Amino acid sequence: MVDCRNQFEAMRADDLPVAEYIGPEGEGLMIPTDGVYNPLLRCRILTKRATDAGAMLFEKSAALNISGSRVETANGVINCRKVIVAVDGGLENVLPELSGRVRTARLQMIGTAPTDEVKFTRPVYYRWGFEYWQQLPDGRIALGGMRDFGGDEEWTDKSIPSDAIQKSREIFLRTKLGIQAEITHRWAAVAAFNGSGVPIIEEVRPGVWAIGSYSGTGNIIGAICGRGVAQIVVKGETALLDELRPLP
Ligand SMILES: Cc1cc2nc3c(=O)[nH]c(=O)nc-3n(C[C@H](O)[C@H](O)[C@H](O)COP(=O)(O)OP(=O)(O)OC[C@H]3O[C@@H](n4cnc5c(N)ncnc54)[C@H](O)[C@@H]3O)c2cc1C
Repeated sequence: MVDCRNQFEAMRADDLPVAEYIGPEGEGLMIPTDGVYNPLLRCRILTKRATDAGAMLFEKSAALNISGSRVETANGVINCRKVIVAVDGGLENVLPELSGRVRTARLQMIGTAPTDEVKFTRPVYYRWGFEYWQQLPDGRIALGGMRDFGGDEEWTDKSIPSDAIQKSREIFLRTKLGIQAEITHRWAAVAAFNGSGVPIIEEVRPGVWAIGSYSGTGNIIGAICGRGVAQIVVKGETALLDELRPLP
């Protein structure tokens, strides 16, 4: 609770909306401007907009060699004026010069069948954000977290669920959240972290920009970084990115 109190005071000092909260989710803080969205649906909407506007997208086509004027894949080469590498988990594999600063971790999830055992109307972060869950409109629960229980094994770019983390997640679901509904989905994905907590946004090779390493928070920031770097590369405008960069 000391941590919540400190966060409450820090947010109030910066005029950010926050309230003390006790409710079905537990005791802590409520941030009324927080929200969730479906990232896959958003991805599909953006994909359609891009292709409708004439962009060509290639799936399952890894960039193997990247310079500021040329990207090579197994089956083709793209000549270009600039490159933006927008990759979060595994960024240090695509651009090995970042490997000392960027480290990839595996994050795991479970999903249940629809249930009315609980009613969570808001997404919840718990234990400094190590656990997080939400109930979807149809009653299903999506629960993630406990990466720290897995120790060094979770610093990996292998997106495969591991028994130990999945088991602790299940115990948390059954005991802490009191949900007995069947677990229907298990999955894992990767995200990149760095010591600063601030994303990588930089020209790492001449004409090659890297954005990523969002420390588990890239859904919104990643999109803003993408827009910001595109503005620099295409128009030479830095205004949007200047707002994101740490103060000197
Ligand atoms: C379980 C989990 C929970 C999360 N929860 C949250 C949350 O609550 N809030 C939040 O803000 N963020 C969250 N994140 C982080 C968020 O999902 C990421 O930061 C975000 O998806 C980054 O988006 P991106 O498009 O920048 O990069 P990515 O999603 O990493 O997309 C990069 C794409 O590039 C592809 N790629 C990689 N290498 C190459 C290559 N060599 N050539 C071609 N393509 C390549 C990848 O396959 C991928 O499709 C979570 C992540 C996970 C895994």
